[in-house]
Amino acid sequence: MTQPAQPHIHPIDVILHKRDGLDLTDAEIQSFIRAVVDHAAGSQTFSDEVSDAQIAAFLMAVFERGLDHRELATLTTAMRFSGETFDAAPLNTFTVDKHSTGGVGDKTSLLIAPTLGAAGLAHPTPASIPGICVPMISGRSLGHTGGTLDKLETIPGFNTQLNLSQLLDILKKCGAALIGQTPTLVPADRILYALRDHTGTVESPFLICASIMSKKLAESLNALVLDVKVGSGAFMPTYEKSKFLAELMVRTGEASGTRTVALLTSMDEPLGRFSGNWIEAWECVDIMRGHRHPLSADLIELSNILSGWMLHLAGRADTPQAGAALADEILRTGEAYKAWLKIVAAQGGDVAIFEDPAAFHQPAATRTIPAPQSGYLASMDCKQVGWAIQRLGAGRARPGDPVSAHAGIGMHAKLGDKLESGQPLATLFAEDAALLDEPEAMLRETFQIATSPPKLHPLIREVVAEKFS
Ligand code: URA
Repeated sequence: MTQPAQPHIHPIDVILHKRDGLDLTDAEIQSFIRAVVDHAAGSQTFSDEVSDAQIAAFLMAVFERGLDHRELATLTTAMRFSGETFDAAPLNTFTVDKHSTGGVGDKTSLLIAPTLGAAGLAHPTPASIPGICVPMISGRSLGHTGGTLDKLETIPGFNTQLNLSQLLDILKKCGAALIGQTPTLVPADRILYALRDHTGTVESPFLICASIMSKKLAESLNALVLDVKVGSGAFMPTYEKSKFLAELMVRTGEASGTRTVALLTSMDEPLGRFSGNWIEAWECVDIMRGHRHPLSADLIELSNILSGWMLHLAGRADTPQAGAALADEILRTGEAYKAWLKIVAAQGGDVAIFEDPAAFHQPAATRTIPAPQSGYLASMDCKQVGWAIQRLGAGRARPGDPVSAHAGIGMHAKLGDKLESGQPLATLFAEDAALLDEPEAMLRETFQIATSPPKLHPLIREVVAEKFS
């Protein structure tokens, strides 16, 4: 039987409809995304009729008019299936991942992946409960936030550029893997994101949701835990906007059949003790080897809470709290460290480096900022701290720029801590002493010391979830 011919939808009509505030049909959205991908592939098909200018106009129309839930779900699905998808179904496991909207010193992935890997492999359960796999497809640093891939790539030999069949092999062996976006996964997002960056449309919560969720859902997940940052170091400028984004993502995930939970978490100061690249890997290795520095307490707590939700959704714990306790036990007993070594070795990394992580930290220049007066560390603009770290060389100004393995900062105090004048507040690391001055000035300007203790936000501000039965 011949299929009825699809009516051709012209990109200009899709743009005009959205510009004029009309709801787009599913066919309009699907046709537009197909045209975007065909256009980038240089295809000569019928739909190869969309220009960069039209894609930019579409993005601006969505930015201005927004999308309703159906339109957002359709856009996300069209982007998700715009290229290859990953499916761990051959492993017969429960596939779960975590995504963070990005922060300063946010290295929870380096603890969560091995914790879940250990839980999936070393905590056998009745045959009725499947194993767990965690295909963590992660990003690079951009702007004031760090990137998981940059931290991992400081480990000599560690290969983040694996294809999907290599990813499956590593998941089979280790239960978790940490890799970069492949060229074939969600090509629509790459094209749209590049144009959003040039057209002032990055901040649309609808476009952010479609971008993040299309990439995560392309991993064919059973469950997803989102860490949506709020506070001065967060990507979204207000609590309300972070919450709105969290609700959009939870709804979009659930609509596609992936159980999705978002935690709104505080990003008022760097998470943990170190922020940079190797120094963050080192902090995590220290924790997994049983050393719990007091300045790492928030990092450990957040990692355990996120792992706890993942374990709960995977059926390994009756409650998220029980899941967090299990995650903590896996960290404390060294099982997570064993899983970490296995993952690193499977991805080509040199595990010998973890024998003496401090010896590998060799910044050419170091400078410590002392507390200028006695009092309590009261506040900071965490985004400014992130920019200072980027200027030290740990982050990049443009996509593709190299980053320094050894640059970054080590904090000596947390918000609310009591300080004596002259006591070390933060230590800066860089590959070149000339890179220290500007970040030092930025940090001195932003660290505020007060005579009375500040009112602090809790680490977990709110949990956003659909009403599960
Ligand atoms: N991260 C993404 O992957 N996409 C966005 O649009 C914003 C943050």
